[in-house]
Amino acid sequence: MITLKEALSLSKEELVKFKEDLKAKIEARPELNAYIDVLNVGEGIPIAIKDNIQVKDWSITSGSNILQGYIAPYNATVIEKMMDAGLSPFGRTNMDEFAMGSTTESSFYGKTLNPHNSDCVPGGSSGGSAAAVAAGLAIAALGSDTGGSIRQPAAFCGIVGMKPTYGRVSRYGLGAYASSLDQIGPMTQTVEDAAILYDIISGSDDKDSTNAKMDDKVTPNLNPNRKLKIAILPKYIENASQDIKDAYAKAVEALKNAGHEISEYEMMDAKFDISAYYITATAEATTNLARYDGIRYGNRVTGKNLEDTFIQTRSQGFGDEVKRRILLGNFVLSSGYYEAYYVKAQKTRHIIKDAYAKIFESVDLILSPVAPTVANKFGELSNPMEMYLSDIYTISVNLAGLPAISLPIAKNKDNMPIGLQLIAKPYDEQTLFDGALSLEKQIQYTK
Ligand code: GLN
Repeated sequence: MITLKEALSLSKEELVKFKEDLKAKIEARPELNAYIDVLNVGEGIPIAIKDNIQVKDWSITSGSNILQGYIAPYNATVIEKMMDAGLSPFGRTNMDEFAMGSTTESSFYGKTLNPHNSDCVPGGSSGGSAAAVAAGLAIAALGSDTGGSIRQPAAFCGIVGMKPTYGRVSRYGLGAYASSLDQIGPMTQTVEDAAILYDIISGSDDKDSTNAKMDDKVTPNLNPNRKLKIAILPKYIENASQDIKDAYAKAVEALKNAGHEISEYEMMDAKFDISAYYITATAEATTNLARYDGIRYGNRVTGKNLEDTFIQTRSQGFGDEVKRRILLGNFVLSSGYYEAYYVKAQKTRHIIKDAYAKIFESVDLILSPVAPTVANKFGELSNPMEMYLSDIYTISVNLAGLPAISLPIAKNKDNMPIGLQLIAKPYDEQTLFDGALSLEKQIQYTK
């Protein structure tokens, strides 16, 4: 598949032909279930769009039954910015329902397969976007990352996935999961493509009150030859599988060979991240999902009276994982438990943020695993708790609002990809991309 950088220099005629071929390729791989729909807007370079980002006049369902039939009334800001840059939304990709999950198994549309092994999950929640790029069915895609949903599927599928600093990319038109954590970001074949797409979708937007209103660009200044200070976390990686540890060692070697200064640090025990994240995310999700009442959006199941209509619509519209989180979110926000859970989680969130800030006083970047294992087999995570625990390496980045990029480093003996992430200071995307470019060059990962 051509890269985004290459696609930018295609002529109009070449692009038309390319899109026809792409459509045929997608139709030839229905079993992957990466796309929910191929629609195509405009004449630009085709980009796959996660099903929680609004494209005017397209269906948008966040992978849920409750939003069946809902048509987006306006474009998300990222879509407007993409179209201004000559890119076109091409199709909507599969995802875990309301972006809740790590496997894309909770989608109303059924599971998406990992292109490297159809017995394995593609990761989640942006599993459709990751599988599309990895299978050569998209030049690039947009995903959203609340607790790892861009970086983890990117790692499981052997592609690049980047989560911007909170506030860099407008959330206007993104279906909200947990508003203080959500960010849209690029999922691409190369680090340079991620930088290009990041530059296109980031920047000022008056329609999102949490937008940082910063318009600096990284692509013009990309420099893989900068010598950086990079923190590694020998204790933190102890919970990862041997495959991941081996890839980590390989990346450390590569970074040393590229001339970066490596030093060892310790991170807080990740078990605090899990608790703080799942309390915060479910509390916010409960509030955000209250709007799906069968009256204003999508599917309605008409009951005996208004209250029964709410109950029937929500009971039949939401899947099990979403219901579980609504229950948990209401519980942690309830008056008797608010102080004990929600307030405590917010305090923990500050401690996590401070722990990162402390490390960043003396380094430019942190090297971390993305997931404790390679992609698991379908049904392998036997209960929700196991799935939540598999998020240990991604969620603290969202809790602290930091930018991070996952890139492929190695494959294990079963030929499954392993991704690692670099994490940077808030708003220091330039250093993040420079470091990632250097690592990518040194590693020479082949698909
Ligand atoms: N797996 C995490 C969750 O289920 C993260 C999801 C996400 O980033 N959207 O909440």
